Amino acid sequence: MREHLSGVQAPMTTRQRQRLSVTGIVQGVGFRPFVYGLAQRLGLAGFVLNDSRGVAIEVEGPAEALTRFRQLLLAEAPALARIESVTVEMLPPRQETVFVIGKSQEGRERTTLVSPDVATCAACLRELFDPADRRYRYPFINCTNCGPRFTIIQDVPYDREQTTMRVFAMCLACRTEYEDPADRRFHAQPNACPHCGPQIHLELWTEGEPILAASSAESEEATPIERVAQLLARGAILAIKGLGGYHLACDALNAVAVQRLRRRKHREAKPFALMVPDLETAQRLCWVNEAEAALLQSPRRPIVLLEQRPGSPIAPAVAPGYRTLGLMLPYTPLHHLLLHAFAQALPAGRLPVLVMTSGNLSEEPIAYRDDEARQRLAAIADGMLSHDRVIHMRCDDSVTRLVAGGEQLLRRSRGYVPEPITLAFELPRPLLACGGHLKNTFCLGKGRQAFVGHHIGDLENLETLASFREGIRHFQRLFDIVPEAVAYDLHPDYLATRYALDSDIELRLGVQHHHAHIASVLAEHGLSGPVIGIAADGTGYGTDGAIWGCEILLADLCSFERLAHLAYVPLPGGEQAVRQPWRMAAVYLARTYGERFLTLNIPFARRLDRSTWRILAQMIARGLNTPLTSSLGRLFDAVAAILGLRDEVSYEGQAAIELEMLASSVPPDDQPSYPYALLRPGQGPLQIDVSPLLTALVDDLQRGGEMARLARRFHRSLVVMFCDLCQRIREISGLSQVALSGGVFQNRLLLEEVVNELQANGFHVYLNRRVPPNDGGLSLGQLAVAAARLAAECGSSTVPAR
Ligand SMILES: [Zn+2]
Ligand SMILES: [Zn+2]
Repeated sequence: MREHLSGVQAPMTTRQRQRLSVTGIVQGVGFRPFVYGLAQRLGLAGFVLNDSRGVAIEVEGPAEALTRFRQLLLAEAPALARIESVTVEMLPPRQETVFVIGKSQEGRERTTLVSPDVATCAACLRELFDPADRRYRYPFINCTNCGPRFTIIQDVPYDREQTTMRVFAMCLACRTEYEDPADRRFHAQPNACPHCGPQIHLELWTEGEPILAASSAESEEATPIERVAQLLARGAILAIKGLGGYHLACDALNAVAVQRLRRRKHREAKPFALMVPDLETAQRLCWVNEAEAALLQSPRRPIVLLEQRPGSPIAPAVAPGYRTLGLMLPYTPLHHLLLHAFAQALPAGRLPVLVMTSGNLSEEPIAYRDDEARQRLAAIADGMLSHDRVIHMRCDDSVTRLVAGGEQLLRRSRGYVPEPITLAFELPRPLLACGGHLKNTFCLGKGRQAFVGHHIGDLENLETLASFREGIRHFQRLFDIVPEAVAYDLHPDYLATRYALDSDIELRLGVQHHHAHIASVLAEHGLSGPVIGIAADGTGYGTDGAIWGCEILLADLCSFERLAHLAYVPLPGGEQAVRQPWRMAAVYLARTYGERFLTLNIPFARRLDRSTWRILAQMIARGLNTPLTSSLGRLFDAVAAILGLRDEVSYEGQAAIELEMLASSVPPDDQPSYPYALLRPGQGPLQIDVSPLLTALVDDLQRGGEMARLARRFHRSLVVMFCDLCQRIREISGLSQVALSGGVFQNRLLLEEVVNELQANGFHVYLNRRVPPNDGGLSLGQLAVAAARLAAECGSSTVPAR
């Protein structure tokens, strides 16, 4: 927050007039009524209005009252407001006597921030369940403090006419609230009631299904939400329209329903998110500490990953192989009503918990239009509970958790987007960064603000590509950004890269994948480097064409030097090797033992099909579709397969996650960690050879060591290895700042132990806290690198040294 005061300070008792320009998230969060109330309280005259840069205020009155006004403006601002700056300018008094709320003004330059969607507030919730209230059980109740924002805004300034609420003409009662500065719905743009606002409707698709047939007799008087609740209680799967798209819902305690949903959605193993009515229910399923409870209950309402309590009644198919559950609390009035009705529809004593997973087939983006939902979800759901308020921007639920003393986002979307990340430096020109291939996000920036877009998903099909293009266009309009340069990943086949190279922006900057990961940490923390960067990752295109993924870098925002990496191994079959961890196990064992590995007395060697291995070995020998890789993710896959966890996966990272879960099931022991070797052929970076590690692991396995202990020791060995390498680099470079990023650092055990070990050895450790460490954070890093390079080229000093 900055406050600039220009003009001459007059004696305290004289009448003054000041113009205050407030920037930040100050529209759509009840800021104008707050200012109005404050001015009334202090007896000040003047006006407040929204303009395209934020909120403009003119206040007139005694000097001391104006000072008090400025103090309280900051101290008592509405909970959802995020004030970035207040500029104060002295004006000649006009002898006005009243304070008014003026009409929005659209200026030439747009810099207004748009609020993310906000969960139903306590005041609205009370009215929702109050039979005397005129909005009793109305699923679209909201006020200036809560409700849809980002997902319904088509343009700025944020006014009803620029949202998808435009089509609903307010009734007299609603309009009166909307126009009364003393009302908590004053200028609440989505304001509505049962008489004038959006309505819900229920469609059943599988009329023949016995689940649905029985229900018609159930209750003639049931509301659509009550009917949906009854159907869910009997095991149905329903599509439910939410804030940023459709969910697929079913009873999370009903194993048959959950299995059916998995089968129909073609989602074999990835965990489903759950919605519980309240914190108490969450606490019955999972261990929830205070910080986690705060995150669950925050107005952002993300899915929070929590450790499941033993004996929880959740169907095992919800999160197979996981010790965690992803829980969220209701965030729209419709959700509150649904969970309430669902609890009533269940037999007494049964916990009301709903699976609420994205409404899509695996790999497709979440459905958000009604016709689209009908088309795409009819094969999965038995019907849909929809409504006629249009979703303008699709937006998935965010996924987060608490790790190493702070938040770690795994997916940054609803509730967080489009809040910008403020950079420590001014961007030399407006920029677009296209992000990566998996878990794509884009990032647009100008000034000191980086707007990381909502989660787009894996850019593998036309649907997601269309969603990516739409998203970029929308952000460009909302924040008035015309990019003059574009940053992209070096992988030539990524659709995001092709988008950048095909665009009409002439200034294009390729950014190496792992440099971008490390830069995302620097950008978040206002650092420019140099730092020691550890990128622990699955897949990222290297400058030598190999697939990198365990990289120790010396990096600043402009450039990086590759100091060390996991020694290259072949990745036979490319993507195929990602889906089949057994291939990596065979590759690593063959590299360690030669052909002799087939005779090892371990289950993996015994069960490996000899002829399949011959084909693979030939493929490697001929270099057929066999790139080289230093991926840490693939080493995790190899170890998981060697320990017999799984030979094939249905999504990237599945084997690594199981290895982590297994390792976390036992406490650390005092056995020494496994050894590794460092090689330096020629002048290149150090190569980390894990043959000694694998030999020791196999020895332990042959001696009948407990799997969980071996998994734990493997994790410990990586921790020791990373810390050793950082110490070596510190000795040479004097650097003691370490930035950690990359998808493998979603491994909580690994991340927390690396952080502890580094801190115990005197390092300052920086992590991603505001964007994901996975590829969802790449775009921010790309943007920061591109900006630093452009700034260095034009010789300006916009990148401060620290
Ligand atoms: Zn509210
Ligand atoms: Zn109304």
